[in-house]
Amino acid sequence: MRTPFVAGNWKMFKTVAETVKYVKEFRNLVTNIDDVEIVLAPPFTALHAAAEAARNSNVCIAAQDLHWEREGAFTGEVSAPMIAETGAEYVIIGHSERRTLFGETDASVNRKIAAAFAGGLTPIVCIGETLDQRERNETFAVLDRQIRDGLDRVRSDQLAPLVIAYEPVWAIGTGRNATPAQAAEAHGHIRKRLQQWFGAEPAELCRIVYGGSVKPENIRDLATQPHVDGALVGGASLDVKAFSEIVSRSRNAQV
Ligand code: PEP
Repeated sequence: MRTPFVAGNWKMFKTVAETVKYVKEFRNLVTNIDDVEIVLAPPFTALHAAAEAARNSNVCIAAQDLHWEREGAFTGEVSAPMIAETGAEYVIIGHSERRTLFGETDASVNRKIAAAFAGGLTPIVCIGETLDQRERNETFAVLDRQIRDGLDRVRSDQLAPLVIAYEPVWAIGTGRNATPAQAAEAHGHIRKRLQQWFGAEPAELCRIVYGGSVKPENIRDLATQPHVDGALVGGASLDVKAFSEIVSRSRNAQV
């Protein structure tokens, strides 16, 4: 049985003060939820404050990106050891906004996954097709390429902690979520490929979460689909009550 996983990706929103206020309120709202892994991903500047505000709670902290080197002349970049030092334990890798706006590729995703593991961070790896690719019936081919190249040289035993976020690009920030059937189909395909390429047991342990316009109103229908193990939430995670409701409605979804 996989523990549901729900993460909030704040993108470039919230100052340090806003982060601390949110985390203090949020940890109280989810304090009794011990059957969902709960993660918040604030901007780099607020990671340490978020980790401090979440200390001794069931809320963990993620960065939204990292560089693959430990240190060096890479102006503006942040490495895995630097993120780990803030108290964050996870890192989002390959978000579609990084792929489309900042030139992220499957090759850079691959290097970042290796760096995350080396630095003691758990990767949350985002994959998903664009609307054009879906309309050209290329969804499965795109997912296959992103998994094969992105997860190249990931060991089978690293698949259990790793989280894959299936985020159809056309559903991110658009208000248009995938239907439960579309999510189930894509998640089933991803699980099948993981089984083929990493083995049945590791594939069974890997959480595959859905992302794309998740809200309190649609999480239950999505999270009850087979192979949907939770959610990566953008916009709706900025509101503390909406996000705590999403976490709460993700409980026991697979039962
Ligand atoms: C995201 O940023 O990963 C995301 C899924 O955004 P939204 O929930 O706003 O569509």
